[in-house]
Order: sequence, then structure tokens, then C-alpha cells
Amino acid sequence: MLQISDLHVSYGHVEAVAGIDLEVRPGQVSLVLGPNGAGKSTTLNAVAGVVRPARGSVRVGDLDTTGLPAHRVVGAGVALVPEGRRVFAPMTVEENLRLGGHTTAPGRAREVLERIWEIFPVLHERRRGAAGLLSGGEQQMLAFGRALVSDPAFVLLDEPSMGLAPAMVDVVVEKVGLMAESGIGVLMVEQNAEAGLGIASDVTVVNRGQVAFRGTSAEVRADASVLRAFLGES
Ligand code: ATP
Repeated sequence: MLQISDLHVSYGHVEAVAGIDLEVRPGQVSLVLGPNGAGKSTTLNAVAGVVRPARGSVRVGDLDTTGLPAHRVVGAGVALVPEGRRVFAPMTVEENLRLGGHTTAPGRAREVLERIWEIFPVLHERRRGAAGLLSGGEQQMLAFGRALVSDPAFVLLDEPSMGLAPAMVDVVVEKVGLMAESGIGVLMVEQNAEAGLGIASDVTVVNRGQVAFRGTSAEVRADASVLRAFLGES
């Protein structure tokens, strides 16, 4: 299990995350929703070792990864897919995947790549083409694939639906579900409530760096006040 306890992160005087608790289980999707600036990206970045928490702890199974640098967190089995995808446009799909790291045990490399081709057949079809020629949704899949190269037990997905047409959001969300079905624990943050509710086993709404609501997808959908207050829906 990936366990985040009492996480606090500050940027100077701004306390972006002020005591967040989250749990992610293997094979499940934990969804974190919240408005712009709620502290969602900061939470993921703190778990991934991109920023240092001021307080609290992050545990991956029996391992305490709190404050470890990013490469050590990847080594512990946690891969971040940052907001905005950041694929390298002139490089091929295969070259982009190779950037995913070298932490995979040599004997596992083939199996790991097979899993990526299986979940994302389009990446296999386009493997020798430039990443910049992929559609937005395909680039998001490439960003997922690049995270899977390190054979993670957990992936952290920062707003994968951002900037995608609704039909493509559905495809990307389906892929997130397939990653979870393959046994990976997924921590997904979204501003777009509809993007993840269909596949999430639990939902945490954050606002101003704190947990404002916790429940199932059905409970979030049923609670109009949560949708209105934090997610901008009417
Ligand atoms: P978004 O969807 O806009 O990314 P978010 O929920 O992910 O929102 P964060 O990006 O984590 O929110 O931001 C939380 C707070 O921290 C905001 O007030 C933001 O302005 C501030 N913040 C984020 N990154 C930095 C930084 N590098 N330096 C200073 N303040 C920051």
C-alpha cells in the first residue's frame, strides 16, 4: 500500500498542502478532486520526491520514502506522470519510452515492454514515428507508458484529462482502468470530476490544501453540495 499521512508542503510562506492523508491500494484507483490551486499537484510532487514535505510521511509498503529524491522514489516503485505530458516531440515513441528509466531488472525489461504494448497498442503501431505527431490523447498514453517502463507498483497521474476532447478523455480514462487492472495502484488527481469517477474506488476532494470530503464515486455524485462547492458544477 502507498500511504500518505499528515502531509504538509510549503512554498515560502504559502502552505500549499496542510495535512493530507491518502491511501492507495494495489489494483485500485484513488481519485483526488479539487479546484485550481487546491494542492493536488503539490501532493503528487511531494510523494514523487520533486518537492520536500515540511511534515508528515509517505510509505510505500514497509519503506519510508518521505523526502527521498525523485530517482530513489522511482526505485521504490512509484512513478509520476506530470501534468502536461511533456513528451519529446522530435524523438520517436520508442525513444521516449526509453527515457522512462533503467530501473527495471534486466530480466523484466521484455515483460514490462510487452505490458505497455498490450495496454497501449497504438504506441506499438506508432513506435517508430515521432512523438510530436501523436494526438493529445496518444501523447498522454505515451506519458503513461514512459512511467510504466520503471515497472512501478504505484503511478501518480497529474490531470491526465487536461486539454483533451471529451471522447479522448474516455479513452484515456479507460487506459487508467487497465493499468489498475494489471495490478498497479493509481493515485489520480483531476479538476474534471467526470474524468475519473467511473473508475475510482475511492474519492478524496481537497480544497485549500486539506481534505474537504471523502467517499465513493456514488457518494460524490449524490452530493450536489460537494460538486457545487469544490468542483464548480451547478
Ligand atoms: P492546479 O490544478 O492549478 O495545478 P493544484 O490543486 O494542483 O492546482 P497546486 O499546483 O498544488 O494546486 O498549488 C497549490 C498552491 O501552491 C497554490 O496556491 C499555488 O499557487 C502554490 N504553488 C504551487 N507551486 C508553487 C511554487 N513552485 N512556488 C510557489 N507557490 C506554488
